[in-house]
Amino acid sequence: MPELPEVETIVRNYRPRLEGRRIVGFRSRWRKQACPSAPQVRDSILGRTITRIGRRGKHIVFHLHDGGFLLVHLRMSGRFEWADANSAAPRHVRATWDLDDGSRLLFCDARKFGRLIYTRDLAAATAKLGHEPLERLFTAALLERELHSRSRQLKPLLLDQSVIVGLGNIYVDESLFRAGLHPQARSDELSKAQIQRLHRAIRNVLREGIRHQGTSFDWAYPGGGMQERLRVYGRTSEPCRRCGTPIAALRVAQRGTHICPTCQPPARKRRTRRRASQYIKQ
Ligand SMILES: [Zn+2]
Repeated sequence: MPELPEVETIVRNYRPRLEGRRIVGFRSRWRKQACPSAPQVRDSILGRTITRIGRRGKHIVFHLHDGGFLLVHLRMSGRFEWADANSAAPRHVRATWDLDDGSRLLFCDARKFGRLIYTRDLAAATAKLGHEPLERLFTAALLERELHSRSRQLKPLLLDQSVIVGLGNIYVDESLFRAGLHPQARSDELSKAQIQRLHRAIRNVLREGIRHQGTSFDWAYPGGGMQERLRVYGRTSEPCRRCGTPIAALRVAQRGTHICPTCQPPARKRRTRRRASQYIKQ
């Protein structure tokens, strides 16, 4: 599934040709795709000009001139393409937008999990989404508050879009490796220094992902270069680039997870720390 760097790359690539264009035609060919419904989405966007293309979490956001918004979530296999009269039509086209310059944008989605959501209230539609990790407001202190107010394993917590948006399986594994943290470490047991490392790692790995136009493993998202730079994800049994230990695969919260067992040792047990602090109090 595309994560923040892939969605951001798509936004940047499609922005120049979409911004300022008026939508003159729309079709959705997959009944469950459009929300509230395909006819309602069509009526709400036809004749409107796209003033801005943005991103919120893993959603691509079309800002329309009359105050409406169309959110596109690619989910597992959704992708945009431009219709090209000179080449064969792409497969799995689920929606099309005709634009006033004669171009046609296609939404292709083999697995049909992608969603198009029209709303006039962007804040309400995205109210359940958490912090944008690349925004200035996302500080180490904010991350500390989020981690220490919960007692959860790091991996599922970082995947939770209601806490931080944009991180999926790839960039969580990479962030945890770069921070030297085990994916099963408890969020409320991290030290300030560990949280600062994690905060830096999340932002650096996302920025690196954007710089290299995201990670490409298969046909669903071609063109990225970040896969060459991953340190643990998809590298099971290959030597750690830092210490040479073979990368291990494990399951954490039902998700395939990759770690270096040397660089990411299991967290110290809570009991040990409690005992130590009791001892100090005495
Ligand atoms: Zn290592």
